[in-house]
Amino acid sequence: MKVTLLGTGSPLPDPSRAGPSTLVRAEGSTILVDCGRGVLMRLAGAGVLPPMLDAVLVTHLHSDHLTDLNDVITTHWVMSLEPQPLRVFGPPGLAGVVDATLAALSLDIGYRIAHHDTLTSPPQVDVTEVEPDDGFAVGSVRVRVGATDHRPVEPTVAYRIEDGEKSVVLGGDGVPCEALDELCHGAHAYVQTVIREDLVRAIPVDRLQDILGYHSSVEQAAQTAARAGVRTLVLTHYVPAMPSGAEAEWRALAAAHFDGPIVLGDDLTELEV
Ligand SMILES: [Zn+2]
Ligand SMILES: [Zn+2]
Repeated sequence: MKVTLLGTGSPLPDPSRAGPSTLVRAEGSTILVDCGRGVLMRLAGAGVLPPMLDAVLVTHLHSDHLTDLNDVITTHWVMSLEPQPLRVFGPPGLAGVVDATLAALSLDIGYRIAHHDTLTSPPQVDVTEVEPDDGFAVGSVRVRVGATDHRPVEPTVAYRIEDGEKSVVLGGDGVPCEALDELCHGAHAYVQTVIREDLVRAIPVDRLQDILGYHSSVEQAAQTAARAGVRTLVLTHYVPAMPSGAEAEWRALAAAHFDGPIVLGDDLTELEV
């Protein structure tokens, strides 16, 4: 499996980091996890166009993870030469978000159907709302759903994607919890969104301080990785944005708690699992 960090940014706009999203490619299955700002630009950068997606997995309904789902829906629709449904999985509430997105796009959908003789039906989005302990297949891979703790945001989930012996966990946002440890157990790679607690604490803005309580710090992500015995820790969703050249400093904070390889970097950083 190949894991690509499409967007390593956060809600804070950054000229060089797209919003949170990660691509997982297995033999015969191409899976997008979350759809942050600019996701399709980075997807194209990874050599993947929307009709090639077999599934979109959403970890939670915070806007930074979801804001470009509308672009994925529209572009998947107009670039598919034959009608094909877009399969989207996510926590309860996702169906309402997709319905509202399609409602917001309804004028555009009408314009395009009226203009193109070969486009005769609106986008088909197959939404499956998932709960912790659910499992489903995407092509040849199995996906397990786990709970996360991103309270007060609820419900939120993480995913474990398994291709034969290989496994990747996409932890989404949240603080460490037993359910996440269990989902990560023995995984080949664990991708966690992180914040730098030390740097955030130094910024005297109340609204920024609020994020400390519901995100894993770099150190906490490393501790989760160590407890769960994962092979490789992958860090993304850097808050504040990681300046270029600071990778070693971020990696050192994690390495104090986790012995294995630690992957982090710019958008489009890849890992072969
Ligand atoms: Zn969030
Ligand atoms: Zn987030």
